Amino acid sequence: MLITPLQLEQEPLLFDESIPAGALDYAPDVAQVGPLPVTGRADLILENRGHNEHVPDIRIRAAYKGDFELLCARCVEPVPTALKGSFDLIFRPQAADADPGERAITPDETEIGYYEESGLSLEDVVREQVLLSLPSRTLCKEDCKGLCPRCGQNLNLGTCDCDPVSDPRWNALAGLAGTIESR
Ligand SMILES: [Zn+2]
Ligand SMILES: [Zn+2]
Repeated sequence: MLITPLQLEQEPLLFDESIPAGALDYAPDVAQVGPLPVTGRADLILENRGHNEHVPDIRIRAAYKGDFELLCARCVEPVPTALKGSFDLIFRPQAADADPGERAITPDETEIGYYEESGLSLEDVVREQVLLSLPSRTLCKEDCKGLCPRCGQNLNLGTCDCDPVSDPRWNALAGLAGTIESR
């Protein structure tokens, strides 16, 4: 859904959208499962820059909630994860700040985003917000055993015939763990 200042001139736009699974490409380790409902409103904010110059900013306040699959950081199996969030953001037309020398962004303006001449894509905004809301690390379970570094066997499902002790990388890690514990 594209939101343009023209749509908002008379009144704010209230929306109740549903982004279908597969419509957005999030990241290689993030997949949306099922529709993602997004409800909220868009308002036009005319930013006064003097000399009768008004910049048409778009303010979006919205909330989303949906089911996703993230990959386990250790065994790379998909982990069902419910994500939800809300945001309140202001977007300025890209052309309004085209001359960076004349209008440097002040520190309190760093949160401001930009929209292109064609309009602001609600899907793009939601995609970015979902990515920002991701947990820093996903595990399928606290004690996930991960993959065998040699043969790739998922060690949660069964053992393999590799000898982990003879792998020099594991010896180095074991030594490191020893020094940390001895402090
Ligand atoms: Zn795992
Ligand atoms: Zn193995």
